[in-house]
Amino acid sequence: MGLSVSDAVTGSARGDGRRYAFGPVVSRRLGRSLGVDLVPYKTCSYDCIYCQLGRTTRLTAVRSQFAPLARVVEDALRALEISGPADYITLSGSGEPTLCTRLDELIAALKARTGVPIAVLTNGSLLFRPEMRRELAGADLVVPSLDAGTAEAFQRVNRPDPSIGFEAMVDGLIEFGQDYGGRIWLEVFLVRGYNDSLDHVGRIAALARQIGPERVQLNTVARPPAEGDALPVDPAVLDDLAGAFGALAEVVAERPAVERAAGGGAEVQRLLDLLARRPCHLLAMAEALNAHPNAILKVLPGLVREGKVTVTRHGGRDHYAATHPSGEHGPVEWV
Ligand code: SF4
Repeated sequence: MGLSVSDAVTGSARGDGRRYAFGPVVSRRLGRSLGVDLVPYKTCSYDCIYCQLGRTTRLTAVRSQFAPLARVVEDALRALEISGPADYITLSGSGEPTLCTRLDELIAALKARTGVPIAVLTNGSLLFRPEMRRELAGADLVVPSLDAGTAEAFQRVNRPDPSIGFEAMVDGLIEFGQDYGGRIWLEVFLVRGYNDSLDHVGRIAALARQIGPERVQLNTVARPPAEGDALPVDPAVLDDLAGAFGALAEVVAERPAVERAAGGGAEVQRLLDLLARRPCHLLAMAEALNAHPNAILKVLPGLVREGKVTVTRHGGRDHYAATHPSGEHGPVEWV
């Protein structure tokens, strides 16, 4: 699920109490996307080596009612009211959204109350369960991941919860592809030396043909990954590998965002908005804002000096929080 955060989550609560809905923000692939964050930070059924959110802290395949659905819908309505229309409401966030239960009810309620199409960014790991496929049936677009063509590569790249087997995962994707009436864009995230050989990509492409997506989107590492040896695939190589998928394929990998400075006024405001929502460490800020950590570091010390941001040591790392006008911090959800 390599596109999760940049495509959906970046946004802010703007101090109005919203917790589960963020944006809308302009997404590369989804247009104006209102992100809905349904699970706690890094609660995921995978622990991908390339994950831009860092290592998974809660590896699980057990679904739970992580978010109160009525509140999620109210937050989405409020976000649309404040920030204008969206092309998609996107279930995504800082973990695997399908770990949240009752998604069929949530999708139906969001569509009924907002009239906005629903997209789901998922790692696809739970689609082998019939109830999971049923719950996503009402979504308009599902973007699942398939990064491996063999069980060995699956273990090395996605490091799944032990209860999730490669064959069951693939079978779930294939069954979903056969049953689902909406659009499927399959994301394939390639990591140099792990799953980017021509032979391996050919295996992934063979599985993709059985799934039958409308598009195949090739991605690679563009931001700091969970593991230092998760390296990007060269853009020219990605273009070549796309050929294995035929006309369906597009390369969606970003260029590294080193050049994106966070120095502009609008970007500083986005940073403050983010930190008003939740305290973040440096990499989480860089991820959420799609900026290089060095760009964040250009403005962060100044904001601390001005008293707009406070810093607290937590879990061996510095975490930053926006200081509200009252002098109190936003809701504490350490990331
Ligand atoms: S599926 Fe992988 S990339 Fe997506 S949140 Fe989980 S660990 Fe990160």
